[in-house]
Amino acid sequence: MKKHPLRLLFLVVITGLAFVVQPAYAAKIKVVTTLTDLADLVRNIGGDKVEVHSLATGVEDTHGVPMKPSFVPLMNRADLIVLVGFDCEHAFLPALLEASRNPRIQKGQPGYVDCSEGIAPVDVPRSTDHSEGDVHPYGNPHYMLDPVLAETAIHNIYNALVTFSPQDQATFTSNRDAYLAKLDAKISEWKAEAAPLKGVKFISYHEEWNYFAERFGMVYFGTVELKPGIDPTPRHIEELITSMKAEHVSIVVREPQFPEKVPAFISEQTGAKLVTLPIMPGGVAHTDTYIEMMDYIVTTMVRATGK
Ligand SMILES: [Zn+2]
Repeated sequence: MKKHPLRLLFLVVITGLAFVVQPAYAAKIKVVTTLTDLADLVRNIGGDKVEVHSLATGVEDTHGVPMKPSFVPLMNRADLIVLVGFDCEHAFLPALLEASRNPRIQKGQPGYVDCSEGIAPVDVPRSTDHSEGDVHPYGNPHYMLDPVLAETAIHNIYNALVTFSPQDQATFTSNRDAYLAKLDAKISEWKAEAAPLKGVKFISYHEEWNYFAERFGMVYFGTVELKPGIDPTPRHIEELITSMKAEHVSIVVREPQFPEKVPAFISEQTGAKLVTLPIMPGGVAHTDTYIEMMDYIVTTMVRATGK
């Protein structure tokens, strides 16, 4: 069949357009985040200017995301690496940064975005020695479970995006302002919904909930772990059960990255209600975004009080 000249012209125009369109797509800012909560924030602020990959899927331990072969090429191509900080990612990020051979995202470079910048950590230990296994050497890194502190992470992400791509500042500013307005409205809602949580005592597996407890007025009574990252001993569990009974601790929180067995045993022994709560989006079903996750946490916690 003979090709029609007009059809040929059409093909030439289409091919030409593809070449014009492609560089705009290729110019997306490539962002890698360690955790899913940060990925959600980057998507909200960066909009269609960014392409975001999270190393974690949501069910992992924030201190030990298991390595996948895809991580190194992802990190090699990244314009920005966005992380929690306070050495939260100590067990996997430094090695990955080295393997990436990407000078733009190394610590100290503008492509290294530490979201803890501007946050004062709680529970800073006297020694920053990792040898005893403590995974919170610079204080508690789980500030993202306080939605007010998440706003500091939002500002750090915004600043990094603007530094990387100043020509897109207006877009980032309007995206950020829209998201902050939405988040502020949710914070007011959560504070009202969480009123029954005031003074309620709870424990959790890992020391994950300090900032959350502070924000919503709960009493963080203790952890199943002996210290952050250190497995419990039988004696610790026994003492925990005795003191929980004496002090009427009513909720046991288990994070999805930890086995249910010990928290379930403590719940049985004390009568405290056992709940599984995500620590980042994707940790349990129906928590795909940061806001959905916080919704889930507040609602589940309030339900667990039985009030
Ligand atoms: Zn931790």
